[in-house]
Amino acid sequence: MERHYAIAIDGPAASGKSTAAKGVSKILDFLYIDTGAMYRAFTLYMMEQGKDPKKEEDALLLLPSFEMSEDSKGHVYLFKEDVTKRVRERDVSALVSYACAYKAVREKMVEIQRAMAERNSVVMDGRDIGTVVLPHADLKIYQVASVKARAKRRYLENQEKGIPCSLKEIEEDIEKRDYIDSHRENSPLTKAEDAILLDTSEMTIQEEIETIVSLFRKKVGESWKDTEQSH
Ligand code: C5P
Repeated sequence: MERHYAIAIDGPAASGKSTAAKGVSKILDFLYIDTGAMYRAFTLYMMEQGKDPKKEEDALLLLPSFEMSEDSKGHVYLFKEDVTKRVRERDVSALVSYACAYKAVREKMVEIQRAMAERNSVVMDGRDIGTVVLPHADLKIYQVASVKARAKRRYLENQEKGIPCSLKEIEEDIEKRDYIDSHRENSPLTKAEDAILLDTSEMTIQEEIETIVSLFRKKVGESWKDTEQSH
């Protein structure tokens, strides 16, 4: 059976995980999985159905009928609708930390994430990938950056995508989400013991990508070269 590899990238909101993960997945030809988008899509589904993400009973009611998918280009679909941009908007960002905190919601998402990693070599980004979803990942990165650096990046990213926002609002949102993410009961944001800490405040995205790819190559060494040659 073909050997599948996994790279787990965790860290706080807007630390540049998804841009780095996408770049790494392109170089290594792995599938990129944005787990935050799954929780965001579920939050949007609740909102569209007139339910309150702050209420666990509402989440449990909708969880069985929830269907989403992601394609290799990083597009996110809620049922068949492309919601890639919509799930990044401020109203969804403000509520996602509530919807993703429920045990049953996390269990369902983790199951889907593990199934994807079983069938493919993946770069997966999130909060609990190295600790809960893929504890045996070949490489675990815990990526951090200052609030200022993160807010600036998210601001530029939103501008590029045409999502209206202000830098100050983003800073406030990030601080609030960091707090909720690290204080929740189920799978709080923590660094896996064997994860490599990467502070990207002063790094360009290209440097980040190169660092992760070279860490991966070093980590898996000869077994990776064998697979490359057999392609
Ligand atoms: O990474 P992103 O900002 O898109 O994540 C959205 C939210 O989903 C985060 O605030 C976090 O609370 C949650 N999340 C999570 N576990 C993951 C990925 C994201 O709880 N693996």
